[in-house]
Formats: sequence, structure tokens, C-alpha cells
Amino acid sequence: MKVYFIGAGPGDVELMTIKGHKRLHSCSNVMYAGSLINPEILAALPESTQVHDTSKLNLEQQVDIYKEARTAEQDVARLQSGDLSIYGAIAEQMRALDNLSIQYEVIPGVSSVAASAATLNCELTLPEISQTVILSRISGRTQVPPDEDLEKLASHKCTLCLFLSIHKIKDVVKKLSVHYPAETPVIVVYKASWKDEKIIRGNIETIADMVEAEGIRLTALILVGKVLDTKDFDDSRLYSKEYSHLFRKKNVSK
Ligand code: SAH
Repeated sequence: MKVYFIGAGPGDVELMTIKGHKRLHSCSNVMYAGSLINPEILAALPESTQVHDTSKLNLEQQVDIYKEARTAEQDVARLQSGDLSIYGAIAEQMRALDNLSIQYEVIPGVSSVAASAATLNCELTLPEISQTVILSRISGRTQVPPDEDLEKLASHKCTLCLFLSIHKIKDVVKKLSVHYPAETPVIVVYKASWKDEKIIRGNIETIADMVEAEGIRLTALILVGKVLDTKDFDDSRLYSKEYSHLFRKKNVSK
């Protein structure tokens, strides 16, 4: 018996990996984390699959499902939105499985940050503009350690992607405006890759009112930084004629 943690992707059912899809369909038990999982993924499962919505269960109740599956010698697929390496609350699941000596495997997924950059046709790192992306959030029920307060992170003025923060957009821009100039582009992507995806383009000064006017309070990513609207950057060294590397000799092209 094994538990498979599977990244379900950002929403679009075609954005799950082939490996994740195969494992999901081979498991008799499926646990999924509430509203961020596209219902189409669940609807395509065989009728015999036992499906559990973990948003209604506490950790102990979830552990009971693992125990029952072990007794029945059945594998469990645990679907999480996007990729599992960020904001998935799976570390505590893994700890519980370690305590039960139950084996598990993680199958990565397409994060909403990748899906948002894709829908914007945007690269989050550009030569000379920003070579760093910070993934973070504003404090909520889960507190952010004081050294990672948004205002401190903003001092780097690099590209920022904020999860779980859209309902506090006013507080977000207040903290960011201490360091980012008012005209710094801010884009909110609501439900990236879903059919009802929305993109709201503004800047540090304007975005909070725009988001409030749209009534968006959930399932959105806040992207911040100059990379979002500039064409004024140098070409990368990677394809430069003057630059040679292991796979290409200098000045090979005529
Ligand atoms: N592990 C997930 C993040 C889960 S935390 C990932 O890799 O994407 C939940 C937060 O992720 C939401 O509050 C929102 O900020 C963001 N999110 C998840 N799916 C999203 C989507 N399709 N579009 C925009 N933001 C999304």
C-alpha cells in the first residue's frame, strides 16, 4: 500500500502530468483538497473509486482514511492544487505517514505561479531587470515569520508572487509601497487556466481599487515587478554570438 501525493495543476485538467494522471486512475481511494481541484478531474474517475474531500476533515480523520486503506491494502491518491512544494500543508501528512510507516511518493504539478506567467506570456526573470523571484504571502491565520514580513521582502524590489493574500490587497500594497515606486506594475491573475480566468493589470497605486471593484477575494495570485511590462532589457548571454559554452562554440554562426 502506498500514498501518492499528486500535483493536480492550477485548474485546467490538461495541466496535470501524465504520471500524475496514471497514478490517480490506478488508486482505489482519492483524497482531494476542496475547491481548488477542478471537478472534471474527479468526474472522470471510475465509479468504484472512493473519493474524500479533505477540506471537511481534520488531520486525525484523514489519518484514519490512510489506516483503513492500509488494512484494505489499497493505494491512496492525494490530490493537491498546483504543485506540492508550496502552500500544500502536506508536510504534516508526510510526518503522520512516517509515524505509521506508510510509504509515499510525491508527483509534482504545474504551480499556479507557472500558469499565471504562462497566461501573461511573461518571463518572471529578465536580464538586468530582475533575476530573483520571491514566492510569499501576507500573514493570515498562518503567521509569516517576522524576518519575512512583506515590507522586508519588498526592499529587494525583485519580482514577487504572492499567494493567499488577495483578500488583503490593501495591506499588501501598503507594505509594498514602502520600497516599490507607485508605478511598479502589479498584475492579479484570478483562477489562472480555468475557463473563468481573469487578469487585472494595474500598479502599486491602482491595483487595490481595481481588485475590490471586481470583488475578487479568493484563488488569485498577485504578481509584482518591472518584468511584467518592460521590453527594455538586454538579450540573455545564453544565445549571444560572443558567448561560447559547452554546447556551442564561439561565433559559429556567420
Ligand atoms: N500549491 C499551490 C498553491 C496552493 S495555496 C500552487 O502551487 O499553486 C492556494 C493559493 O494559491 C490561492 O490562495 C491562490 O493565491 C493560489 N492559486 C491556486 N490556484 C490558483 C489559480 N488557478 N490561479 C491563481 N491563483 C491560484
